[in-house]
Amino acid sequence: MRKLPLHIKILIGLFLGIIWAVISAVFGFSKFTADWIAPFGEVFIRVLTMIAVPLVLFSIIQGITSLSDTRRLGILGLKTLSVYLVTTLSAIIIGLVLVNTFKPGVHIDENQRIVNRMAYELWVERTPGVDKLDDADYLNNTQYIDYQVDANRRLQEVDEESGLKSKISETNKRKESSPLIFIVDMVPSNVFASLSEGKMLQVIFFAIFTGVIIVMLPREKVEMVIQFVDGANAIFIRMVEVVMLGAPFFVFALMAGKVSELAGDDLGAVQEIFKALGFYSLVVVIGLALMIFIFYPTVVRLINKNMKYRHFFRSISPAQFLAFSTSSSAATLPVTMECVTDNLKVKPEIASFVLPIGATVNMDGTSLYQSVAVVFLAQFHLIDLSLSQQMIIVITATLASIGSAAVPSAGLIMLIIVLQSVGLNPAWIAIIFPVDRILDMCRTVVNVTGDASVSTIVEKLE
Ligand code: ASP
Repeated sequence: MRKLPLHIKILIGLFLGIIWAVISAVFGFSKFTADWIAPFGEVFIRVLTMIAVPLVLFSIIQGITSLSDTRRLGILGLKTLSVYLVTTLSAIIIGLVLVNTFKPGVHIDENQRIVNRMAYELWVERTPGVDKLDDADYLNNTQYIDYQVDANRRLQEVDEESGLKSKISETNKRKESSPLIFIVDMVPSNVFASLSEGKMLQVIFFAIFTGVIIVMLPREKVEMVIQFVDGANAIFIRMVEVVMLGAPFFVFALMAGKVSELAGDDLGAVQEIFKALGFYSLVVVIGLALMIFIFYPTVVRLINKNMKYRHFFRSISPAQFLAFSTSSSAATLPVTMECVTDNLKVKPEIASFVLPIGATVNMDGTSLYQSVAVVFLAQFHLIDLSLSQQMIIVITATLASIGSAAVPSAGLIMLIIVLQSVGLNPAWIAIIFPVDRILDMCRTVVNVTGDASVSTIVEKLE
């Protein structure tokens, strides 16, 4: 057991966690799992998140101070953002092609879809500033008169889904502010507040600014600071290594806790959820798998001919398993940085710049999932989205994935914006909510794999 590589041990922990959760659901001791095992998973996420913020701060400053020429920084930034944009757009296009080909929303009971469609038309009538997306008119068609009562109930059900209303109005408030709000949001007014609240983009901004100023000052003035930053960076890197020794156990606890939370004491309920949303989930998972197993390795190979398929996956698999079990690219970031520098041998000054930015702005899995979800929900409501409406999805899903925080379920909340931009009911996120956690785990793996791949590409382009 001692000899097994870490990623295999983590994988074993992951499976044992799932098996434990299933057993506890079958024998009815989910409460024990929630009370006595799940907290260790929570501890793991907290420790990783605790390390992530100072690690990003010190590693970026160190990276910049070790760049021989800071003018390179602008070019590096431009390259990083361009490659990130290309991968995100590719992910959305793959998602749209899959969802339009497999049409998961069409394979659902026709009566249910008619009720949904009428609920949608009722919602359009009730909502100022929203127009119907096509000419069909089910509400005033006498053929469907019997569906009216169900349609009214359906609209209420979706609207009143607890907890989601406040999220929608919160997201709307943000939308009403200036389109440049994201630039304003990047700049901290109090860096200590940014650090304590874990506002990653603000920390990155501060770190880059500090690094550049250090380089501009005479070396003898800042020598001590540079040494301190080097030392602090080494401490946090070592922390990651130490925490990772316990990763197999922590991943077991995380999986046991999360899966038993989903299943409760009734496995049948999980089956029911998957029956309704199974085809949709499958399309999302196929898209994500294409990204991981075909898209990234191919693109990385195109740029770096020496990169072997197996080596690529072996190197980043600890980060991938962790992404799966934590559903958070931010919590996974310290491990992603370790895998990329130690195993893929990307220079630390590049990895420490590209990865933290990627964890916050590059979410290919999230954007793919959002594009599939919107078109699925439209199909589910008998709405055919035109090409131009789908182009709007491309743009807003890109922005929404950039705006999503690297924490669990952030992608689902930002889906509100994508739905609204096309003129669909944002409350529909309640429909796909039951399967969101599992899809979140999968899309976070893609988000992290994307960041790791781009860091190797950017290094090669340097
Ligand atoms: N959980 C994802 C991440 O941390 C974001 C999302 O909800 O899609 O990367």
